[in-house]
Amino acid sequence: PSPQASHFGPSVWVEFSPLSIKHKSINLGQGFPDFEPPQFVSDALAKTVETGGFNQYARSPGHLRLVNAISKVYSPYFERTIEPTTEVVTTVGASEAIFCAIQTCVGQGDEVILIEPFFDIYSGAVVMAGGVSKHVPLREQPRKNVTDARSSANWELDWDEFEKAFTPKTRVLLLNNPHNPVGKVWSRAELERIAEIVKRHPQVTVISDEVYEWMTYDGIKHERFATIKDMYDRTITVGSAGKTFSITGWKIGWCIGPKNIISAIANVHQYIPFSVHTPSQEAVAIALEETLHRDYLKELAQMYQGKRDRLVTSLRQAGLDPVVPQGTYFVLGDTSRIHLQGDEGQSSSITGMGKHLRDWNVCRWLTTDIGVTAIPISAFYSEEHAHLPANYARFCFCKKDQVLDQADKAFQQIK
Ligand code: PMP
Ligand code: GLN
Repeated sequence: PSPQASHFGPSVWVEFSPLSIKHKSINLGQGFPDFEPPQFVSDALAKTVETGGFNQYARSPGHLRLVNAISKVYSPYFERTIEPTTEVVTTVGASEAIFCAIQTCVGQGDEVILIEPFFDIYSGAVVMAGGVSKHVPLREQPRKNVTDARSSANWELDWDEFEKAFTPKTRVLLLNNPHNPVGKVWSRAELERIAEIVKRHPQVTVISDEVYEWMTYDGIKHERFATIKDMYDRTITVGSAGKTFSITGWKIGWCIGPKNIISAIANVHQYIPFSVHTPSQEAVAIALEETLHRDYLKELAQMYQGKRDRLVTSLRQAGLDPVVPQGTYFVLGDTSRIHLQGDEGQSSSITGMGKHLRDWNVCRWLTTDIGVTAIPISAFYSEEHAHLPANYARFCFCKKDQVLDQADKAFQQIK
């Protein structure tokens, strides 16, 4: 293997999904819906296959009907006209969008700022581009009163620490909004403050991973970094049909941004998959067009808010004090009341990313002894900071209500 490939071992998903299957646990680990997509989405794919005509390579930067639909749906949210053929590239999920964007912007030795915890594929993509990750952790602020619920809003940047991470070598700042795994929805004031710092570093491009854009709760608005003054020309916004339509297996994503950056990404994309699965692109285009005529996106958020409340209540009753998420379909539970032998272990690294033994052990025990799988979030930290989340586990709630109810029962076994 090359030096880059040697950097990797099995990722957190490869341990916990099989472990869940082996122990027949309720899998609240890897985030994917356990229910079927809406009928209009399945129908769109069936119709596409039935009518034929969508079985050969698609246009490399994106199937025309899909880039047109993306332009129609997103232009109002970006407060500008997104030009479909020059400002959009479709990709193999948001994962390829992020990989391609990093390959496009980052060269050997260039630096990328990652805010911890970060979705684990970011650091892998930086390694493969020959770049170097600089890590800045979100810091959980104490609540005003002990009786207040914890909230993802209290996970904040230390602004001095954040600004110090920028150097003349910084090429990319990677933002995730809403944020996996914390559930934080960045406020406009926070994004404006980030933009102020970005403006002082003209060589920096912002990749804003907004795959959970339609999942915000309690009336909180998802603000787009690209709509902050002067930031459109500096921002690559990443989206995913997998999250929006509960079709994570279709792997359809996209980048939206200014022409000069998008054309460079399109050039790189030609040498990765060249083009994306045509029938799925046609079907996602139809599905996106449908959202213009029905309340689907609003209903999606309402459905997930109900599921969030269900899981938050269960975690609270189990004494796993939850950090109530403002967005996404994840919630962090505080596992500090669980005491296992040897769980004060040292950090160690298998993947070059962080791994703290306590949270891995707690998540293994939750699977084997309690029957519920969760994800240890030190996998989303650098080795240097892997100790910070030792008392957290991430649970996902994109599951049927009856499955969340089974998890509720299982949690009651935690003594
Ligand atoms: N970004 C984040 C924050 C995610 O949670 C995911 C989910 N895997 C992705 C990107 C990748 O999305 P996709 O499944 O569309 O590749
Ligand atoms: N985004 C999902 C999660 O965070 C899926 C991860 C994956 O499949 N690699 O759970």
